[in-house]
Amino acid sequence: MSDNYITLKIGKQKNIALIAHDGKKAEMIAWCEENKEILKNHFLCGTGTTARMITDKTGLPVRGYNSGPLGGDQQIGAKIVEGRIDLIVFFSDPLTAQPHDPDVKALLRIAQVYDIPIANNRATADFIIKSELMSQEYEHEVINFQKNIKERSETL
Ligand code: PGA
Repeated sequence: MSDNYITLKIGKQKNIALIAHDGKKAEMIAWCEENKEILKNHFLCGTGTTARMITDKTGLPVRGYNSGPLGGDQQIGAKIVEGRIDLIVFFSDPLTAQPHDPDVKALLRIAQVYDIPIANNRATADFIIKSELMSQEYEHEVINFQKNIKERSETL
């Protein structure tokens, strides 16, 4: 691989962000309960209300950011940029308009840029959580941002 990319490592113990729109919160809590034994081995965070409800209903510790419509998705996006999120489970509601739709799109986009796995429904979340990679280190290639800035600043 050229130096246009750098290799980043996702550790065995993962930083997992959990987000559920209102119509999907019950499903998220049920999924967390179902996968509690796996999830308790990782570091969990999430948007405010989702995080609080998961902790209240399952006992799993989940660090809460702001509520999604108040910037929580953007906070999680910023953590991705800082290399502090390894996996996202985001049960978005495809049947309800969201006031923070631009933030949702931004989160999906930045996860794609940084090659972060993101499950947007239960089946995908099931496939990911049962993957053997959940208990292993994983190396992946992301854009070399230092080089990108150097080249842009020299050529633009
Ligand atoms: P919430 O935010 O967990 O605070 O409800 C989720 C969202 O709507 O993005």
